[in-house]
Amino acid sequence: MKQRLILSSAAISVFSSLIAYFALADSDIYAQGARPSGPAAKQTASVIKAEDRSVKFAAAAFENRRLRRSLQWPFGAKTQTGWNVYVPLISYAIGTDSDPDSAEFALAVSKWQQKSGLDGTGVLDQATLESFTKYWQSRRLGRGTLAATDTLLAAPIGDFFDSTRSPDLLQLEAETYAAYKRMIAAAAKDLQLKLSGSGVLAANEKFLKIISAYRSPAYQESLRKKEPNAGRAALATNSPHSTGHALDIYVGGEPVKTEDSNRLLQVQTPAYKWLVKNADRFGFYPYFYEPWHWEYVPGK
Ligand SMILES: [Zn+2]
Repeated sequence: MKQRLILSSAAISVFSSLIAYFALADSDIYAQGARPSGPAAKQTASVIKAEDRSVKFAAAAFENRRLRRSLQWPFGAKTQTGWNVYVPLISYAIGTDSDPDSAEFALAVSKWQQKSGLDGTGVLDQATLESFTKYWQSRRLGRGTLAATDTLLAAPIGDFFDSTRSPDLLQLEAETYAAYKRMIAAAAKDLQLKLSGSGVLAANEKFLKIISAYRSPAYQESLRKKEPNAGRAALATNSPHSTGHALDIYVGGEPVKTEDSNRLLQVQTPAYKWLVKNADRFGFYPYFYEPWHWEYVPGK
């Protein structure tokens, strides 16, 4: 029994020496500066770099998942919560169709951040969101001039969401209308919207019909008096609607309600998603905050 113990302790000691030998031998290699070099080492370095990046963007994705529902940011005299409503617009701006909670999305955000002079963290934080809102707002009409009445025309009632709309509320600027019709023809094909014989959206088709177009300053003022607590932008004295180039278009849900739940529903409809990706081809740009509001600004 005793002999056995001695033997095995000797075996352990030999084994430890062997480990020590190889460990030393191993450390010797590096001590002599014989680090691997050449293509293999470069490949190892790039693999490590790629792994670092994927860890970084996986962490950013995790943070984005939280922020898209909870980020607090100020807009329109109100604290806003999250950026869920703007995911289609953001995705289009950064050129990705990836899930907003994915590392691919975070990577695309990071590229946008770098182009915008921000840290390329991939985390869609307040500063990054502001860079998006600034970009979207920069493509709008700006301080609009009033539409000259000789540029306005009355569109057929069939183009409107509300078939009982008053005949004096069917006006819009002529080029804006032509561009709208071209856009509707393309959308009808892609989205299989129902058209009547004359190319007007069918009576039972609501999507992409015009809710509101040109609004004269007098009419705008009467709206303000009727609904003093309605959304600021919708009822501003110098509304973009007074230019004849702004259209409210039906994209689902309650036509023009700014509640988050309504906007969240609107931005998920095929009609809205189509506009986000295609409206610019026809000269229309969004007001990010109101999924229904689009402005004709050719050349922007
Ligand atoms: Zn509008």
